[in-house]
Amino acid sequence: MRVSNKILFFVLDGASDRPVGKSTPLQSAITPNLDKLADTGISGIMDTIAPGIRPGSDTAHLSLLGYDPYKYYTGRGPFEAAGVGIDVKAGDVAFRCNFATLKDGLIVDRRAGRIRETTELAHSISEGVDVGTDFIFKESTGHRAAMVLRGEDLSADVTSNDPKKENKPMKEFHAISSKAEKTAKILNDFLAQSIDILESHPVNQERSSAGMPPANVILLRGAGLVPAIIPFEEKYGLKSAVVAAAGLVIGIGKMCGMEHVSFDGGTGGVDSDVVGKVRTAIKALEDHDFVLVNIKGADEAGHDGEFEKKRDFLSRIDEAFSEVLDLKDTMVVVTADHSTPVSIKDHTADPVPIMINGDGVRVDNVHAYNEIDAANGGLNRLRGMDIMHILMDLINRAEKFGA
Ligand code: ZN
Ligand code: ZN
Repeated sequence: MRVSNKILFFVLDGASDRPVGKSTPLQSAITPNLDKLADTGISGIMDTIAPGIRPGSDTAHLSLLGYDPYKYYTGRGPFEAAGVGIDVKAGDVAFRCNFATLKDGLIVDRRAGRIRETTELAHSISEGVDVGTDFIFKESTGHRAAMVLRGEDLSADVTSNDPKKENKPMKEFHAISSKAEKTAKILNDFLAQSIDILESHPVNQERSSAGMPPANVILLRGAGLVPAIIPFEEKYGLKSAVVAAAGLVIGIGKMCGMEHVSFDGGTGGVDSDVVGKVRTAIKALEDHDFVLVNIKGADEAGHDGEFEKKRDFLSRIDEAFSEVLDLKDTMVVVTADHSTPVSIKDHTADPVPIMINGDGVRVDNVHAYNEIDAANGGLNRLRGMDIMHILMDLINRAEKFGA
């Protein structure tokens, strides 16, 4: 009997939905390849966190990888920081940041006119700010950035300076607990010094004279203490990689010790090069045992409330799956991290379809890949935290519990 020894794990971000009229976007999409995988595989539905809990992409991905999000999710900051390439360490306090525009004490633009190039600004902050504690500040795409504080007696129990809405006064950082007073002071120092540097920065003077909003302040939010995570390879004995365009998913992979395999053409939107991404993932299987692939576009279409856009993107994903059909010795998993119904324009707790195709699975009577058919499958209804155990069993790497 053949046993698959590799795992190719696809997360079609937010692909799962509710019916609009008679069918969901997945049911309406043209998906011969995914249907063939379902036909020769085993299907089910899955609550990525727990029934009725609306997952974020971050908490859902942690759960799918077998890391209890209630234990390891300490806020968005740590995963964003890891995603932009900061080598975060357990005990760091991390934030996601925006370059924004401050005028007369008010935040007049939370994205600083969607500034594109912030490398020089970030560099000047890294060089010029001194708050008596080590910090790493790094720009990301567009107006985004991340920051990590590293040292003794730091805490993530601090408020944000982000008023969340435009034309509201910028806030100060405050300690929520007494152990965070030092951190709040460091952040207020950081803020004052960075404003000084940004105000007079040539990049901003140029922007102002061109009539563009200057990126003269940093908004920091999503504070989180970087958790101590057992690396994926240590946990499962599988050499792993992540293929994704979304910084948050890359960050989760990196924090779990996965290698980030990048490729050109990933945008995180519906214009992403899905064929290229799937090929990159298949190639990564040559020297990894486990490859996580996140394909983001369907989530974007769901948030936009656009049924046809979501359906058509799912059809495009299916075309890329033609090369997955011929894989040997590989467990192929296709699921989603949560539902993003076009009728709701946000994540919901509706369970997602999951399908496993590979050697030894008990092929069931499901012939199509979608939310409704999957509910009749042999996997029945699982939780996200179960899936790695099931896969380890299928590839014959699970240990026996008891004699
Ligand atoms: Zn998601
Ligand atoms: Zn989303």
